[in-house]
Amino acid sequence: MNIYLDIDGVLRGVASPVQDVVELLEYILANFPDSTYWLTTHCRQDYNHTRAALLNSNLPKDLVERASTIVKPSNFAVLKTDAIDFEKPFIWLDDNLFESERKVLESRNCLSNHFLMNPRDPEMAKKALMLLKNLKEENANTY
Ligand SMILES: [Mg+2]
Repeated sequence: MNIYLDIDGVLRGVASPVQDVVELLEYILANFPDSTYWLTTHCRQDYNHTRAALLNSNLPKDLVERASTIVKPSNFAVLKTDAIDFEKPFIWLDDNLFESERKVLESRNCLSNHFLMNPRDPEMAKKALMLLKNLKEENANTY
């Protein structure tokens, strides 16, 4: 399963306690090390500013360094959905969804693969972690 990960409103600038965000990111790195991609305006074709963005957060520096080597860059011009590989199962963690992106997801019958993060919800990181754990379990049962 591919994981697409936004930064602002997901890993940074959120009401969730930092230890919950750490736990979420650690879980992703441990369980999806080969299939996690940045999907954020901090990462485009010409540049990858994800490390700098994450260093400018409350996350521990060593975790940021590990995430920076493990999570792969992605590239999109206008719509984040342009960077998504629809041939593979995926979950996309983001605090936003443009109407045009929603239409793309709907046309491909995968609107539910977008998990809308609410940065103002202190339970958000916990909820995302629970979602990923459940999906991991479902996948394990399917194959
Ligand atoms: Mg965001």
